[in-house]
Formats: sequence, structure tokens, C-alpha cells
Amino acid sequence: MTTSPSTSPLRAAAPGRVWAHVGQPFTEPYFDLVVVGAGRMGAALTLYLRQLLPHRSVLLIEEGGLPNEEGATILAPGIWSTLDLPVAQQEQARWTRTQLETALGDVQWRPRALAELHTQETPGARPTREALADFPEALHLINPEQLPFARLDGYAATYRPGNVALNAAQQAIKLGANLLLNTRAVPLPAVSAQTDSGSTGSGLARLKLERLTVTNTHQIVTHETLNLRAGVTVIAAGAAGPALAEHQLGVHTAHGRAYQQYPRLEQPSREDAPILRTGPLTLRPQHGGYTLIPAPHHRDPHGYQPTAGHLTGVQTGLRRELLEDLVALMPAVPALAAEGLQVGRSLSDLPGAWVSLPGGRVNGWPLWEELTPEAFLLLGGPSADTLGLWVAHDLAAELARRQAAVGERQPM
Ligand code: ADP
Repeated sequence: MTTSPSTSPLRAAAPGRVWAHVGQPFTEPYFDLVVVGAGRMGAALTLYLRQLLPHRSVLLIEEGGLPNEEGATILAPGIWSTLDLPVAQQEQARWTRTQLETALGDVQWRPRALAELHTQETPGARPTREALADFPEALHLINPEQLPFARLDGYAATYRPGNVALNAAQQAIKLGANLLLNTRAVPLPAVSAQTDSGSTGSGLARLKLERLTVTNTHQIVTHETLNLRAGVTVIAAGAAGPALAEHQLGVHTAHGRAYQQYPRLEQPSREDAPILRTGPLTLRPQHGGYTLIPAPHHRDPHGYQPTAGHLTGVQTGLRRELLEDLVALMPAVPALAAEGLQVGRSLSDLPGAWVSLPGGRVNGWPLWEELTPEAFLLLGGPSADTLGLWVAHDLAAELARRQAAVGERQPM
């Protein structure tokens, strides 16, 4: 399915409403489109829905704030690169890039080379010393004898996914989308839509809304529970999405999730320093040092609770599997063995988040899927940096196409 961004000028719409806290009564009974989760996927989808379906009411619901400190978006690496991307996905990646560069405000977009380092000769690779000649600090982090070959993506870039979520949601609100914060949405099975002449054949999505507040002892409690109906619900709840689909709507999916952690490596990085990648580890220049991005190992088993690791009796905040990866990489990346590596002493010392794994695979692509006629699932996952916006737009375009097909029949 190929779609292109809407080029038609939008009618000037009145801005939507924002309900930030429980002191603002929420009494709306129905929206045409409800998006659950204001990470970058849900926020971008909401914007594209307003652009492609300007006559439909839209509500974006978020359990936390915008962006949620606990979601995957705020910690996501923000690396756009087409290295190793199959041809079929190249156009989607370019579309996403154009959006990031031109359509979503300041996302701190920075063109930046990505050097993939190898132990053996690889097609397209050059000698590492030559490839990194302009970046002596980067060369200093690694052992070029162990990683003698480098493939360079000179067209890569870094950006801030948290800004994408924030800016997309703000633009969507300007175009008339509504935003309900600090509210947990629980999708429920649809009811059939009744008209004067009987059932329309298509159903109405239902949701339970739990408006959350914080007590003066810092506990999060439900202030009130409300019911909402919708033409269509899109679950864009990140790693929590597949469980909502299964437990609330009874639709089994094969998707998984993994608990990702992002330790810091305090070694100086220049503004134009390249991203370094070797095997399962990416070193992303950030805030004058590096953020380490270990590729997820595998999907975490059902019921897994993030657990801090131990290594030779020393407690760290980093989970054991990732610690083992770093230890294995120390000969090739000696900087990992130096003092600058911050693995923390407990889980709370390290930034970490649950990331969805589309298809249950660590390298699954972002996707959307129809769960029921009234409910869709939208998943970003590890490749959302490069492809996520295209997939969010593709779902918006599909919903617009279906809307056009049913004409003005109600509901959507
Ligand atoms: P993605 O990259 O797919 O956007 P994130 O984890 O960053 O993933 O975003 C998902 C968002 O969905 C988070 O901000 C999270 O707080 C929110 N969320 C998860 N479950 C619910 C829910 N039941 N109701 C409302 N928001 C939810």
C-alpha cells in the first residue's frame, strides 16, 4: 500500500480542547476517532487524522503527560538511517525523513554519519582508520585492530523523538484534535450501532476511561471512571498495546515487548561526532558524551519484571544480558572498560523503558493492524525512528479511504 501526504489545503479549524487534570470536567460521550497513547506513534497518527479527515472529531488519550516520562518515545535513540534497510522500505524511510525535516517543527534534526564497524571485510566497507580519519575522538573509543572495517552511512541523522510526539500533538490540537491527559483508556468490545431503522451493521467502539490524579502522598489513584464511545479506536499504547488488544478485545496478536536500557558512556563527543555501531551495540553522540543503545536481545517472557544485574558479585543497574554484551565487546570497544561507563547500582539509576517488538521480533518493522472493524493497533518498536511516521500516516490514509468508501453513512 503506497500513500502520499495530503497536499490539499485544510479548512481553518478551531483548536481542540485539552483536559490536563481531573479539575477540568470531561463530559463528552462520543468521538469519531479515539487514539489511545500519545507517544510519537499516537501523536503523529492524530495529526495525520486531522489532516486527512478534517470533518471527523478526534480525541487523543494519554495515561501520563505529554510526552510521558515512562513511554518509549522520550528515550528512543532518534537515529534515522537506511543502512541495511530493504529496498521495499527505502521510500517509507525517505517519507519519514521529509516529515522529520520539514513538517514537525524543531525536532533537533542533525545530519550525522553512522559508522558500522566490522571484524571482517564486508561489502561497501573501508578501512576503519580511513573512514574515521576526521573523527579522532571516535577512533579513540574503539580498537581499530579488532574492528578494521567500517561501512559509513553519510546520510544518517539524529533527532529527538520526544519532540516529535510533543510537536505532532500540538499541531494536531491546533487543527482541532482534542487531548485528554492523565487518563488511562481501557478499550472494550464494541456494541452494535442502532439507528431508527435498526442496526447499521457496523459497531461503536467503547472505552472505559480512568482519570488519574496524584495524592499528597504521591500515589496515583483513579479519581473517576467514565464511559466513552467512538466510531473507531486506535490503540497506539506502545509496548502495552498488544496486551490491551488481547485482554480487552480478545484478539490474540504475535507481538512482544522488551525492557530496554540506555546507559551513558561519558567520553567526549563533538557536535558532529558520528554514530558508531558494532554488533548489537550503538553509541549515539548526545549531550557531549554517548548514549549506549544495546539492541534488544529477545522478547521478554510474559510476566518478566525488569531486574538489575550482577557481575562477579557487583550489583549494577543494567540487566544481566546487556551487561554480558558489553563485556564481550570490551576488547573491540576499550572505552567500555574505562571509567566513563555508567551502569548504575540499581534499576532506577538507568534510563529504561518497555519497547514494543512488532511480530515479537527484535528487528520487526513498525506496523498497524485491524483488530476488529472498530479497533486498530499501531506499533512503532525499534525501527520507529526511521519508519514510524510513514506507518502512522499509512493508517490515517487507510481510515480516510474507508471513510470515503462508506460516504457519509454513520458511524465511521
Ligand atoms: P510509541 O513509540 O509506539 O509511540 P510509547 O511507549 O512512546 O510508544 O507511547 C505509548 C504511550 O501510550 C505512552 O505515552 C503511554 O503512557 C501511553 N499508554 C499506554 N497505555 C495506555 C492506556 N491504557 N491509556 C492511555 N495511554 C496509554
